[in-house]
Amino acid sequence: MRESYINLENRTAMPWLTCRDVSEMTTDYLDRALPLSRRLGMRFHLAICSYCRRHIEQVHATVTLLRKLPPVRLSQKQEDALIDQILYAPISDSTAEP
Ligand SMILES: [Zn+2]
Repeated sequence: MRESYINLENRTAMPWLTCRDVSEMTTDYLDRALPLSRRLGMRFHLAICSYCRRHIEQVHATVTLLRKLPPVRLSQKQEDALIDQILYAPISDSTAEP
């Protein structure tokens, strides 16, 4: 991952994350799987970027909602049909012209 650093008073370096960096690290941030330096970089970026704050809030709300759903139970026949669909369904090309 590419990141740049700014030097504050020649004493410390702080990761300067881009919106793309924040987007790529959103899941790890919400799962608290980032090392401290990355987490601080995220917090700093979120303090100054309303777009990324909104993005993080939306992902968090979606994950929270999905975790409340009951697990789906499939019969063996349904499971086999689903696997067949995943493995053998033709891939449509949405960029193809009609
Ligand atoms: Zn941002």
